[in-house]
Amino acid sequence: MTFKCPQCGADLEVLNEAQEHLSCQFCGSSIYLNLDLPVVHYVLVPGLNERQAESALAKWLSDRELTIFPQIISRKMFYLPFWQVSLKDGRLINVPAVATEYLNLHEMQKPAGTMNFFDPREITAEVVVPEITLESVAGEEGLDNVAKAILYHAPFYEIKYVYNKSAFACLVDASGGAVIANDSPKSPKKEKDVFFGVLMFGSLALFFLEGLLLGKLRYAFLLGICTVAFIYFPISSAVKRHRV
Ligand SMILES: [Zn+2]
Repeated sequence: MTFKCPQCGADLEVLNEAQEHLSCQFCGSSIYLNLDLPVVHYVLVPGLNERQAESALAKWLSDRELTIFPQIISRKMFYLPFWQVSLKDGRLINVPAVATEYLNLHEMQKPAGTMNFFDPREITAEVVVPEITLESVAGEEGLDNVAKAILYHAPFYEIKYVYNKSAFACLVDASGGAVIANDSPKSPKKEKDVFFGVLMFGSLALFFLEGLLLGKLRYAFLLGICTVAFIYFPISSAVKRHRV
């Protein structure tokens, strides 16, 4: 079987039909062969080690006011495949080339970081095989609508951890440090916001009732609003102090 190098256009030949990778002898590109079109295949170089990935998770949690260091149960590194496609209608697509339970990966931009040509001999962690074809991500017009496409593998740590006696799992992008998670421990910030809301509503109702007892609905409204204005700042600053 012969085909043109997607990078330099040279005529290349595959001797073995089952061959997945080929290195172009003219331009040196790594080419992935097993899906619908031969594409140039890259790999993102990991920039974070395990410790740094755990710290990225701890930072992500503390941004949600979850300041206890998570208890790490397991961590595993692997490479997930992505399509980066420019369509002829101008759209740019960056999507996982495999089905994944981490749906936020679909909104992820390609992480910044060094990209090398993919070389299976240089990778020790598990490499997830791409399964979603270029045609299926290109939309209704299919491959005719593809201006340029590359396949890249990006390194991730899957970290399983316990926080406040509940178990969670997330991915940490090992090239840029982003955390991808379907769920996370409950943030105390939200609870405080609810507490604050209940307090405000409670005091408003209380003084509204007082105003009613005084006999005039007009006064009731005024009293309620004045009361809220009076207590708003002390309460909100107290809540803010709590958060620090
Ligand atoms: Zn080439």
